[in-house]
Amino acid sequence: MSYAQNVMEGLKQKYASEPVFLQAVQEVLMTLQPALDKDPKYQKYKILERIVEPERAISFRVEWVDDKGEIQVNRGYRVQYNSAIGPYKGGLRFHPSVNLGILKFLGFEQIFKNSLTGLAIGGGKGGADFDPKGKSEVEVMRFCQAFMNELFRHIGDTIDVPAGDIGVGGREVGYMFGQYKKLTKSYEGVLTGKNVLFGGSLARTEATGYGNVYFAQSMMESRGDSLEGKTCVVSGAGNVAIYCCEKLWQIGAKPVTVCDSRGMIYDADGIKVDVLKQVKEVERASLTRYAELVPGAKYTPVTDYPAGRNAVWSVPCEAAFPCATQNELNLEDAKVLLANGCKCVSEGANMPSTLDAVHAFLEAGICYGPAKAANAGGVATSQLEMAQNASMQAWDFETVDNKLRGIMKHIFTSASETAKEFGNAHNLVLGANIAGFRKVADAMIAQGVC
Ligand code: NDP
Repeated sequence: MSYAQNVMEGLKQKYASEPVFLQAVQEVLMTLQPALDKDPKYQKYKILERIVEPERAISFRVEWVDDKGEIQVNRGYRVQYNSAIGPYKGGLRFHPSVNLGILKFLGFEQIFKNSLTGLAIGGGKGGADFDPKGKSEVEVMRFCQAFMNELFRHIGDTIDVPAGDIGVGGREVGYMFGQYKKLTKSYEGVLTGKNVLFGGSLARTEATGYGNVYFAQSMMESRGDSLEGKTCVVSGAGNVAIYCCEKLWQIGAKPVTVCDSRGMIYDADGIKVDVLKQVKEVERASLTRYAELVPGAKYTPVTDYPAGRNAVWSVPCEAAFPCATQNELNLEDAKVLLANGCKCVSEGANMPSTLDAVHAFLEAGICYGPAKAANAGGVATSQLEMAQNASMQAWDFETVDNKLRGIMKHIFTSASETAKEFGNAHNLVLGANIAGFRKVADAMIAQGVC
């Protein structure tokens, strides 16, 4: 049994109750073996056994009072995974499904993603099993304040800098920043994704979706093709999906779908981004509202989807952008996409494709951009926000967007050069994992056993 397989078997015994965490680790470990074979120091220093364990996982009670005067209790977490190359960095997710296993999967992915950006940021992730849906503005504020009442002890601008994720956008980051400031009396860049009025960076809102499209462009160009004129399907209707659609239009492609957890929109003329923003960012409504505002757009509720599938992937397209959540694209979906002639899959969400779907894309030889490379634009721009905060500067939109483009290009080059080094030129899963891993592993070795 190889070193990677051996470590994986041990983890399966130990963390059987954390399936998505095991899935994320398996995807990484199974591609690292060529690098482990090439350099035995990683086994000698037990890097795999060390890198799969978070440095620290904090779990805490969050209690708050709702609008009816009733006490509510939630569970909050911060997983400080790896600080070998910089302070912990990674988003906060507020969703009823949040548990330690999900945050360990996201935090583990974040280590390699952050390393790939070439910036000095370690990996972390956090959140709570709080459901912002249906809560009043004041309830959301009270929850964010209660969450920060504990989190503030564990974070700081050179220690751990959280950002947003599912259920946490500019509004929530603002409430948490305000409470951190009140508790610590310190005005520092402790959170990213802030409003530009108090230290936020221009282009941070757009960064993950834009970055995903920049990455897909690099993949297509490397094959002598382009996204221009292509019909694209996008899943999700949140931050990542909206700005992925916006950038697709800007480069001459046409996004024709979006979805939320209740249903999907198919708009053959192309998704109207201004309407989508109005529905999701302003009204915070369901996508049925989009269909009301755009005659001709077709709404399909999830109850009409084929069993176990997301109907978005059945819409014929040349490029697909999963931007909703983990495991939203399975093997059946992958087969339908390939049969319909899809040439490019670029992941905006974290681990949206199941392992067998990933294998199907790699076997078919299409352009496949794994999440930790393709969606790294968000965290990279968060680091640019940290740099602006630390130097008390505010760069204009174009400056940040140009840096984002440069970083996405760097990530693509680094993943594809590494894939070539290991004789598998188009396998960006292997390239991204090994490139991200080596930098962190070498830093861990240099810093000793501590
Ligand atoms: P948002 O909360 O803004 O949006 C998530 C969207 O996905 C919502 O429209 C949501 O619908 C939809 N969705 C969630 N679950 C499902 C499901 N099971 N089926 C269909 N639709 C679903 O989150 P983000 O856009 O910020 O994040 C999306 C993904 O991108 C996540 O995987 C996140 O980890 C990843 N990501 C985000 C980054 C960022 O900068 N924001 C950075 C890197 C990765 P509904 O509202 O109905 O729940």
